Amino acid sequence: TERTLILVKPDGVERGMSGQILARIEAKGYTLVAVELRTASAELLAQHYEEHVGKPFYESLVEFMVSGPVLAVVAEGDRVIEGFRSLAGATDPTVAAPGTIRGDLGRQWPTKVIQNLVHGSDSPDSAAREIGIWFPSL
Ligand code: ATP
Repeated sequence: TERTLILVKPDGVERGMSGQILARIEAKGYTLVAVELRTASAELLAQHYEEHVGKPFYESLVEFMVSGPVLAVVAEGDRVIEGFRSLAGATDPTVAAPGTIRGDLGRQWPTKVIQNLVHGSDSPDSAAREIGIWFPSL
């Protein structure tokens, strides 16, 4: 079994979608290990998104991510990292498949950032790193 770090981003919390996103995670059979609503600091986001530092969308991404509370979640289950990324769908909600969180619920706003509702760790190494950042006591 493995664990992953999931974030419901500020657009998801603001639009009232935290509950249905958690429901989809549970419906797929994963266990919620930790769930916490919090407004992240720019410092925490800089750690979380360190691989994107220097990219053209980096500043607007961090600005968006600190604009309101996010729901930070640790979920556990067999191949949950891959399974949640599949559930989330493609990065761009416009092309994310129907049936996925981003495909069903995401919007492509005319902003510099893709407001795509959720984040999920993309590998076991990222999951361990990100869980350490968001939930150091786990
Ligand atoms: P996440 O890591 O959040 O699950 P992802 O792996 O699908 O998403 P990444 O390429 O890691 O996407 O990018 C992280 C986030 O940065 C995206 O989810 C999106 O919000 C934003 N982003 C990525 N690419 C762009 C882009 N070209 N323009 C604007 N924002 C972007």
